[in-house]
Amino acid sequence: MSKKSIEDIDVSGKIILMRVDFNVPLDKGLVRDDARIRAVLPTIQSLLSRDARLVLASHLGRPKGEPKEELKMNPVASRLSEILGKPVKKLDQVVGASVNKAIKNMKNGEVLLLENLRFEKGEEENDPRFAKQLAEPVDIFVNDAFGTAHRAHASTTGISAYIPAVAGLLMKKEIEELTRCLDNPVRPMSVILGGAKVSDKINVMRRFLQLADYLMVGGGMANTFFAAKGYAPGASFYEKELVDEAASIITESEKSGCRLVLPVDLVVTREIKAGSDSKVVEPDQVNDHWKAVDIGPGTAKLFSSYIAESAMIVWNGPLGVFETAPFDQGTGQVAREVAKSRAYSVVGGGDLVAALEGLDLADEISFISTGGGATLEFWEGKELPGISVLQDSG
Ligand code: ADP
Ligand code: MG
Repeated sequence: MSKKSIEDIDVSGKIILMRVDFNVPLDKGLVRDDARIRAVLPTIQSLLSRDARLVLASHLGRPKGEPKEELKMNPVASRLSEILGKPVKKLDQVVGASVNKAIKNMKNGEVLLLENLRFEKGEEENDPRFAKQLAEPVDIFVNDAFGTAHRAHASTTGISAYIPAVAGLLMKKEIEELTRCLDNPVRPMSVILGGAKVSDKINVMRRFLQLADYLMVGGGMANTFFAAKGYAPGASFYEKELVDEAASIITESEKSGCRLVLPVDLVVTREIKAGSDSKVVEPDQVNDHWKAVDIGPGTAKLFSSYIAESAMIVWNGPLGVFETAPFDQGTGQVAREVAKSRAYSVVGGGDLVAALEGLDLADEISFISTGGGATLEFWEGKELPGISVLQDSG
């Protein structure tokens, strides 16, 4: 990796401010899912075992620059303390004299959690004064919040103007694994893109058309491609403004070495509701008042045949409206094929990860990225501000 990580620096006795993504779902004042806390445990444990003094900082929800009782970090501190098996001191402020004092009193191997970063307006505005206040009581900045690396906030970029900045172990792993798909494709390489919108993923699509052997498209995105082919969309979700882009992607794919694979059949319904009438039709046979909500069984089989021969699989976005059964079947069938495959597989995107967890298949994936937007921007080849500011290695 071209960036320095905590493995490259001396941390003993140093005060470290580590940006983490503890933006966890809460339920009645308790952490409902602690996956994001567990994801940074290796970094926390490495730093503590090397006698660092660790100050953790995260955002939680969208308080928009003002304190909100229900978005305080207390439940996160309790959960982290349980997992670590040691006390985690939670402060009620983000910056200021009381924070500086508490940090000054820390001993080697201690952990402290600041209040929600987004209680402060300066955080999202990337206000240099606020960034300087954050940096003031600490020696080193560690970024382990890959999921917010595409945002230039005080705690992801601004702070690096004042103290040395390096990657945590999760950040390092994200960079390495996501880069692997771009720099070292193992062939045949399949990319599967789903989800609702072409507009979210157009640049990623173009990038992978240059890299992959097969690019399979499902979900609501596919409807925009069918509109580009001149098929009537019925009542399907599609993006009118992106029909021309979709047409140009079809043309580009013909000149690329990558095969663009669109669905050969679709599940259509009149209403997205459990138990509503549905049927399987060919993509140019979607009638008025019917909407395409999933790939059909023929498509799942076709996608599976490409997956079965692949050595690398990249997947982003569910292939149907998976939240409403039975329109989760296409995603499920393809997920089982990916799980069964011995290929190196990488999955990104919140909704697809939720779908895979629901299917109990997440453990079968080689690498699950913790980013949504950040993962897509990384694959697009954009420089993520939270990564750019980290010190270069070597
Ligand atoms: P991810 O978070 O995995 O990147 P997206 O956010 O891009 O995925 O898209 C997920 C959403 O796409 C889901 O809410 C799902 O219901 C929706 N979706 C999938 N297929 C369709 C479809 N055919 N019509 C409308 N919405 C769809
Ligand atoms: Mg999503």
